[in-house]
Amino acid sequence: MTTSIASAANTPSTTAGNAILAWTGYTGNSPATTAYSAPRSSFQSPHRSAHHSSRSLHRPASQQVLDDGAPLADINQNALLAALPAADQLLWKPYLQRVDLHLGQVLYESGCTPTYVYFPTSAIVSLMCMTQDGKSAEIAVVGRDGVVGISMFMGGNTTPSQAVVQSPGQGWRIRSPMVLQTFSRGGPVLAVLLRYAQAAMGQMAQIALCNRHHYIEQQLCRRLLQGLDRSDTSQLTMTHELLARLLGVRRESVTAAAHRLQLAGVIDYARGHVNVLNRPRLQSMACECYVAQHRVSLFPSVV
Ligand SMILES: [Zn+2]
Repeated sequence: MTTSIASAANTPSTTAGNAILAWTGYTGNSPATTAYSAPRSSFQSPHRSAHHSSRSLHRPASQQVLDDGAPLADINQNALLAALPAADQLLWKPYLQRVDLHLGQVLYESGCTPTYVYFPTSAIVSLMCMTQDGKSAEIAVVGRDGVVGISMFMGGNTTPSQAVVQSPGQGWRIRSPMVLQTFSRGGPVLAVLLRYAQAAMGQMAQIALCNRHHYIEQQLCRRLLQGLDRSDTSQLTMTHELLARLLGVRRESVTAAAHRLQLAGVIDYARGHVNVLNRPRLQSMACECYVAQHRVSLFPSVV
């Protein structure tokens, strides 16, 4: 099939680029080494940024801690947690909390200091950059392959992006100081987290390139594949409005691109549910960015 052409010229490319610059602003300063002693407590909403947009996907967070006594093997549902040395897994386990993550839930706002670091398992989280007038674009996708809140151990202390749950599910969370304390000790945890940070920056760079140079239909295919890779099913819950926010384009453009995929028999779309009928075809219609992100992924066998 010949891929239909839809202009991507209206996609603001500078949002993702600015985010990458913010990420690479690592100063090399040692993170704070205050001993971690805070007990687990109820979720504390992050402070909202002065630049927060009223058009964000925010809705009141309702964090439900499921249990504290899960078997250690459950931690391995997140590849990054699974990659930690056994001693550090045991150290973190009493402080890890399994939580439900709801569609549209904002885990933290841009410019805030996150209370928790999140390790999704079945949930998928988007890191978003927002303009002051409410336009948005996704700069990274985090699922069972990664961690949300990486800036906490990169020396920035605050986050340059907003973290929004775009596919509901579960994940683990742990208080940020606990991660910072372990990170500051160096060793295998430092190596694993830094390698993940490098892979995450590679993903951000690729998305910035994609948003600027590839057609919306290609971007849509790439983004659907990224969701599938972090899901156990062929179905995704994504409205056209959400996809438009993720890609930083007009909703009408996403609707047109999705319609073409539906006509080609690649997807079926109904009431906010995308069912991928032909994944090989979807992959053939995606831009090179999908494969390129696999090359930089820390866990290519997971996503
Ligand atoms: Zn692309």
